Amino acid sequence: MLQMKLCGDLILREKCAPVTEITPDVLDIMDEMVGMMRDQNGVGLAAPQVGQLKRFLVMMDPDTETVFKMINPKIITRSADVCTMEEGCLSVLGADDLPVYANVTRPQSVDVTWTDENGNQVGATMSGLPARIVQHETDHLDGILFIDYLSPVRREMVMRKVRKHK
Ligand SMILES: [Zn+2]
Repeated sequence: MLQMKLCGDLILREKCAPVTEITPDVLDIMDEMVGMMRDQNGVGLAAPQVGQLKRFLVMMDPDTETVFKMINPKIITRSADVCTMEEGCLSVLGADDLPVYANVTRPQSVDVTWTDENGNQVGATMSGLPARIVQHETDHLDGILFIDYLSPVRREMVMRKVRKHK
């Protein structure tokens, strides 16, 4: 059973290695991650959040409820247009054990490529919520958390809520 890694755990700050072979183990972990994501009403979960330093993630388009399992995802282009949306993270929890939210500005749309669970190379242009989610999740694979984008003052406000949890 996988365990959720929480903010403060240094594994969340590591850069993940590419997946070189889609083993049954990787597929099982992704299935379990989809379950964890749904259980916690999340829309995305990246491998390091469950202690795996490999480049894969799961995410859901909240509008269509389509689940994506992405292996070695890569954002190849980002729009110049940006937008601000509230973000939370299943690894950044407050005193009530629920995600702490903050506004983050990111590109409005992105082109993404990845390998799917069947080994097929796929790509998509995403905008709005899915674009937001895929950027947040691929950041995890490089040890980046959404709080890194906040101003020092905003980040301190968020971290104060998180620290109470500990
Ligand atoms: Zn996250």
